Amino acid sequence: MAAVRARAVLLTGSNRGIGLELVKQLLGTPRPPAWIFATCRDPEGPRAQELRDLASKHPNLVLVKLDVANPSAITDAVKIVEGKLNGAGLNLLINNAGIYTPTASLETVDSEDMIRTYKTNAVGPMLMAQAFLPLLKKAARESTEKGLSCNKAAIINISTIMGSIEKTPESFFKPVISYRCSKAALNMLTKCQALTYGEAGILCVALHPGWVKTDMGSQEADLTVDTSVRGLLSVLPILSEKHSGTLLNWEGKAIPW
Ligand code: NDP
Repeated sequence: MAAVRARAVLLTGSNRGIGLELVKQLLGTPRPPAWIFATCRDPEGPRAQELRDLASKHPNLVLVKLDVANPSAITDAVKIVEGKLNGAGLNLLINNAGIYTPTASLETVDSEDMIRTYKTNAVGPMLMAQAFLPLLKKAARESTEKGLSCNKAAIINISTIMGSIEKTPESFFKPVISYRCSKAALNMLTKCQALTYGEAGILCVALHPGWVKTDMGSQEADLTVDTSVRGLLSVLPILSEKHSGTLLNWEGKAIPW
């Protein structure tokens, strides 16, 4: 299986679930990235113990404090990453952090939940891309690869089939209004990013990881986190300009908007 060959990768929400597994599997690739910036809200806290254990064994893994709902935390993180990269660019930004309110039906959802979820799931990825854009552009300029790719410069937004308007009737037995609306916004953001950042050589794709056994997905889910992340990591190296501005699942199959 081909592996992504990005030199520098940054992930959000990497202390547990899909984010943590992405870090583990990236570290385990035959040619791991020179830099993996694993960001999370509380790198010193008990929920980041596994990440700290990994960082103590892998010098290419750097933990960075980052709450995607806090714009000044994003600015601070850019400075740290820039310092480590020492003039080089960032190839791959994976916007993975997300929140979900399982009980949010049209009867129960309120403005606070809508805004909180939108802030993390849609505004966060938008601010992340804006803030890291200079480093992504730098990576695109440094690359000798033709076309768009994750090895060169890419923004991967971890979205969900639940954000697909066309697919909504199939899963509407779980209304999760705030989550769906925020991820539909993330899907739109991905299309706008692709249309804007493509010129600078940056690929922009939304990926659905499947229904995954994590704190968010619950133990009833279809896929283990290992299977989902193996799938996601095998999709990354095949992405090119024809995929930019689309939503694909963990097996690389297109999902309608
Ligand atoms: P988990 O709930 O297991 O983990 C969520 C991660 O996001 C945690 O690391 C959490 O950190 C982090 N996070 C939440 N809010 C913020 C924030 N404001 N700033 C930084 N980090 C934050 O979820 P999954 O691993 O299952 O989900 C990962 C992504 O995959 C999400 O975007 C989700 O929507 C998507 N997805 C998941 C599916 C599933 O079945 N699991 C299905 C479809 C999509 P902390 O520990 O600090 O709370």
